[in-house]
Amino acid sequence: MTGLFDLSGRLAVVTGSSRGIGSAIAAGLAEAGARVVLNGVDETRLRRACDVFREQFGHQAVHAACFDVTDAAQVASAVADIETSIGPIEVLVNNAGLQHREPLLDVSVENWKRVIDVDLTSAFLVGREVARHQLRRGSGKIINICSVQTDLARPSIAAYTAAKGGLRNLTRAMTAEWACGGLQINGLAPGYIHTEMTQALVDDPEFNGWILGRTPAGRWGTVDDLVGPAVFLASPASAYINGQVLFVDGGMTAVV
Ligand code: NAP
Repeated sequence: MTGLFDLSGRLAVVTGSSRGIGSAIAAGLAEAGARVVLNGVDETRLRRACDVFREQFGHQAVHAACFDVTDAAQVASAVADIETSIGPIEVLVNNAGLQHREPLLDVSVENWKRVIDVDLTSAFLVGREVARHQLRRGSGKIINICSVQTDLARPSIAAYTAAKGGLRNLTRAMTAEWACGGLQINGLAPGYIHTEMTQALVDDPEFNGWILGRTPAGRWGTVDDLVGPAVFLASPASAYINGQVLFVDGGMTAVV
């Protein structure tokens, strides 16, 4: 039974794992036995994260790849380099993301494109490069980190909502083309999780009160809440789950 969730020896790349949700997911995959490649754009932060991981999981189990997930050339070169010098990427978590809060009428084209690039196009770019290798081997897992905004809108985060909604259908599109090649591609949709990205919201009494009232579980999520579901979607336990989005949101998308 425990073998179903065992990731021993598998190599997992988690984008945007120098902090926040990505870091917690990478640590969870490493706990389950995976070797992990951490990623971010800030080299110093990435190096620090890597040092902390190596203390816990050992030098051999932790690698770093500093690249911008929105830059096609950097992505292609980083994926090729990981495959050649570290090993076959068996699990990819497309986690890197950012938020931009502004009324839709005020959003500049530049900010719209920045959010779509980081939150949606990146999953296409990294997913495509990794899938080229996984399809040759006939197996692989891709987990796209979605959001409550994959399903529901809220004022002032239109580009993010469009990107995360798009990510659900990109997950389905990848499934349509790659599931027959042995890949399982699924989405993992966190609810409101307390991280750096949401610190300002946690500190805002009105928003915080709204979250506590709107979430059936009655609390913010923690990064640890996402670890079990991520290990599940990365492991043999989810071998026949294809193109789904698993909401880990304390029930927020289940009720009005
Ligand atoms: P975070 O704390 O702000 O961390 C973002 C991570 O993404 C960092 O490691 C950052 O690297 C990396 N990143 C940003 N742009 C990048 C780029 N162009 N190339 C490579 N890496 C990049 O965010 P988070 O709250 O953990 O969110 C992680 C994911 O979960 C996002 O997709 C987000 O939409 C999703 N999510 C979050 C929540 C929540 O409540 N927090 C809820 C639902 C979904 P640097 O450190 O180098 O900048």
